[in-house]
Amino acid sequence: MRIKREQIRVDGLVQGVGFRPFVYRLAQDCKLRGFVNNTSAGALIEIEGSLQQLDAFRQRLTREAPPLANIVNVEHLEISPGCDSAFSIQISKKENRSKTFISPDVTVCDDCLSELFDPGDRRHGYPFINCTNCGPRYTIIKSIPYDRAFTSMNAFQMCEKCSAEYHDPESRRFHAQPNACAECGPQLRLRDSAGRPMETADPITAAISCLKAGKIVALRGIGGFHLAVDAANDAATLRLRQRKGRGQKPFALMAPDLKTIKKLCRVNACEGKALVSLERPIVLLAARSNNTLAPSIAPNNSNLGVMLPYTPLHYLLLKNHFDALVMTSGNFSEEPIAIANDEAMQRLAEIADYFLLHDREILQRCDDSIVRHMDGKTRTIRRSRGYAPKPFWLNKPTDKNILACGGEQKNTIALSRGRAVFLSQHIGDLNNPAALGFFEHSVDHLQHILEIKPQAIAFDLHPEYHATKWALQQKGLPLIGVQHHHAHLAAVMAENNAWQPTIGIILDGTGYGTDGAIWGGEVLVGDARAFQRFAWLEPVALPGGETAIRQPWRIALSCLYQIYGQSLFKLNLPFLQETPRDQLNLIIQMIEKKLNAPLTTSCGRLFDGIAALLNIRKEISYEAQAAIELEMCIAEGVREHYENAISDSEKAGALPVSGIIKALVEDLQRGRPTGEIAALFHNTLVELFLGAAIQAREKTGVKQVGLSGGVFQNRYFFERLCHRLRQNQFKILTHQNAPTNDGGLALGQIVIANAKLQS
Ligand code: ZN
Ligand code: ZN
Ligand code: FE
Repeated sequence: MRIKREQIRVDGLVQGVGFRPFVYRLAQDCKLRGFVNNTSAGALIEIEGSLQQLDAFRQRLTREAPPLANIVNVEHLEISPGCDSAFSIQISKKENRSKTFISPDVTVCDDCLSELFDPGDRRHGYPFINCTNCGPRYTIIKSIPYDRAFTSMNAFQMCEKCSAEYHDPESRRFHAQPNACAECGPQLRLRDSAGRPMETADPITAAISCLKAGKIVALRGIGGFHLAVDAANDAATLRLRQRKGRGQKPFALMAPDLKTIKKLCRVNACEGKALVSLERPIVLLAARSNNTLAPSIAPNNSNLGVMLPYTPLHYLLLKNHFDALVMTSGNFSEEPIAIANDEAMQRLAEIADYFLLHDREILQRCDDSIVRHMDGKTRTIRRSRGYAPKPFWLNKPTDKNILACGGEQKNTIALSRGRAVFLSQHIGDLNNPAALGFFEHSVDHLQHILEIKPQAIAFDLHPEYHATKWALQQKGLPLIGVQHHHAHLAAVMAENNAWQPTIGIILDGTGYGTDGAIWGGEVLVGDARAFQRFAWLEPVALPGGETAIRQPWRIALSCLYQIYGQSLFKLNLPFLQETPRDQLNLIIQMIEKKLNAPLTTSCGRLFDGIAALLNIRKEISYEAQAAIELEMCIAEGVREHYENAISDSEKAGALPVSGIIKALVEDLQRGRPTGEIAALFHNTLVELFLGAAIQAREKTGVKQVGLSGGVFQNRYFFERLCHRLRQNQFKILTHQNAPTNDGGLALGQIVIANAKLQS
């Protein structure tokens, strides 16, 4: 029999996912000698045996790989026979080829769960149970390769039993880096708001009692702290809202199982799948009106953000104890979530009554992710835990490693290496100093753990964005400015690997235009290299700038003034009647004198203005509140639109908005129900952009449309525009895994910077 030896390099996400034990068992099965080890590139395997055995191994290697593994590339090389007598798993070896992939954090698996609730199991009730198929990853990694020594589990010495499992290739915990038990692993402690330890042998039961009594408990989790209260307790929820400085923004919930979630919300098959997925995101669901939840969880909001437990601790807290817990991020207002014990006890002292702490350090902050089911697919709204730092795959590599700095709000950054683009987890709004610190930390940390040295930096053109200011301070690397809406267009093209020229309908709140104005209702035609601004929403003044964003009634007034001038006071509109006349006059003065009243083509602001005009929301307490409430009040079954308002419009250049507002004001004065008008507004805007896309197609021959920008989080608008574009034979590109809001911007910045570097 001829004996051969082969070296196999496996690139991709193969560390911390049970890949080496799988290879070990496979090699045993195929009766091969050799070894497997982790390298910074992935895994290196050497196998020796007959041709037939090698063949069998090769075939089964990719076919039977563990579910969490993501194999990107496999290289084979025949080498001369070695001298090993069996197959073994070797200690990790550092390699120079930098191709690392890091697994996201994964929800606790079913095997671990049954042990958790099995009184006969040695880990019964142990809140840090995990195995090769589950548990924390990204948030505990200090550096690569992924080995216990390079994680925050380094601080814990495995007991004999755990160590035996860790070294037993037949065990589910073979090389499970965070492996632990109550004897040797992380422990929980309960403290009061002053940081005093609570005398209790069972911190979980004590925490459950606190929650039952309506107390606010800060919980240390996987990617940071949560603030938890009993979701059935309205007084407790209100207290949390007040202490956290959180106006009306809905709180996220965690419920023990899918059955309970279905009692609280309507859940379709796709939403159910997203809820139980390994990533365990918060899923936005339509609330049932007769649920038992505290009304203050989501005031004026018919949707609820709900997730299933994803750590053993969550299961122990919820199962048999609560229908739902409010699980909101452990921060004050819009700051980044707390991750360290001391930090949390300091920052959250005014909010939490108790702290449930543990001693496994969180090395990387990671918020809960949020998804929403729209137009038949699950769409990511906030991409964090469970998803980051999984890469996006381009079908052609970037020539240079690029760092993209993202936008200002909902900031994420991205790093590219070959075909992979690593989009960071949600970082937050960078005008918050603490979030800016998190941004800088993330830039360093991602470069370090992914071993990517950027050769160019891409940034947004807005001179006031903190990420832009940071980028401009970096010395020695090419700096590439990218227009905001072009980045949105390129992001949706990159996500779909569709590179031919595309009509971009890019609708969002704010983006810096090439003319220095605030854009946000744009129809672009272009590709990753360049774009042309084909059409845009008719500009309207934003009196007070940022203040107008918080007070949409100013935008409504500005729209009316643009159309009616002083005769707007003759209109019989509730929102005008309710606002003091001198306030109205002051705003009109600002517009007249062009005093801090920049013109904007923003679509998000138009939604805000309409919401105020319809008297739905005049001032907001969280981002996009007015637009969200406008969407929620849409009456069902309204098919028509304001045809006359847009029929004769020239659909290149400025897209007329005045006609729509006029029609709407007339309806409003006639006393037509708000819900119907809201529907008509949405429908008309859909037709306006459809018309612009048709005209762009006629002028340029481009048949592909890309949709991007925060406005497309509006399900009604998004689904209807998709539907109408399809009816008109457009090929549509939409976001799914990258957020359509500015959280996806960095992906677009990468591919545009790459195109510019190439030319
Ligand atoms: Zn497990
Ligand atoms: Zn142990
Ligand atoms: Fe944007």
